[in-house]
Amino acid sequence: MELSSINGRTKLVGIIGWPVEHTLSPVMQNEAFKALGMNWRYLPFPTRPSDLPDAMRGIRALGIKGVNLTIPHKEAVLPLLDELSPAAKAIGAVNTVLVEPDGTLFGENTDALGFGEDLKAHGIDVAGKNALVLGAGGAARAVVYTLLEMGASVCVLNRSVDRAEMLAKEMAGKTSGEACAGRLDEIPQKAGWAYLVVNTTPVGMWPAVDASPWPEEVRFKPGQVAYDVIYRPQETLFMAHARKCGAKAVGGIGMLVRQGAAAFRLWTGKEPPLAVMEAAVKMSWGNE
Ligand code: NAP
Repeated sequence: MELSSINGRTKLVGIIGWPVEHTLSPVMQNEAFKALGMNWRYLPFPTRPSDLPDAMRGIRALGIKGVNLTIPHKEAVLPLLDELSPAAKAIGAVNTVLVEPDGTLFGENTDALGFGEDLKAHGIDVAGKNALVLGAGGAARAVVYTLLEMGASVCVLNRSVDRAEMLAKEMAGKTSGEACAGRLDEIPQKAGWAYLVVNTTPVGMWPAVDASPWPEEVRFKPGQVAYDVIYRPQETLFMAHARKCGAKAVGGIGMLVRQGAAAFRLWTGKEPPLAVMEAAVKMSWGNE
């Protein structure tokens, strides 16, 4: 993809955040456009919180096709949008905006779509089964909503139990699913209950890779699945422990790539090249 190939027909998308320097999305999306020979580009737009309303008016005015939103804009953007998907509305966060041809700004939460699609890609069917979610932050909101929508019973365990209780109550109300809550140190009592355990805490994330939210003495059983939304490292201590116990372990790179792929599909209407996007993410780690 040479710069000289930018012309009057080039279509633009990008990411709005503050800061945006560390985002993997530009390399992932631009490699996808290149692989499909599309005349599209994806740029970072560093945007202060106070400038977000102007930025959203600006993308519409400039004919930008859509944007991703990252920290700290995912919740603040909601009142600036015209329409929300059911997932974005229930989760209360938007990470992808589509600018429709008439200028309508449509908000979607592709973290939820990406997680759901990745479960399916790994053959993990949660309908009618129990799922334990560790953590109650932003990623947990997308994960809990998706699991309840897919028919799982969910228990949220968090360091701050009040946050877990609020999340469980809110998402159960919005999905008519079943959710309970507890403290993170209740893992030993709850471990055997779950078919799927999802870690949504940052514990074990690079560079502090020698940590796990899961006590080493609590064993996984064969047939259980441990899913870590952390994507760096590709195998966390939590995953390694589950695998050693004979359980299935899945890392967060699939969710990351599939949330980007869902945004690509929404903006372009084309099927995204998943393998190219995954390779681009891994390559960018190698370049650090
Ligand atoms: P967040 O909103 O800050 O929430 C973090 C959660 O983890 C909170 O519930 C917090 O508990 C808990 N926590 C933090 N440090 C902890 C510790 N030392 N011990 C126990 N619990 C701890 O963060 P987030 O945006 O949800 O992100 C969480 C992780 O998900 C990050 O690693 C991020 O990279 C990853 N992620 C991955 C994807 C993907 O596509 N794969 C997408 C989104 C996020 P308290 O409530 O008690 O503070």
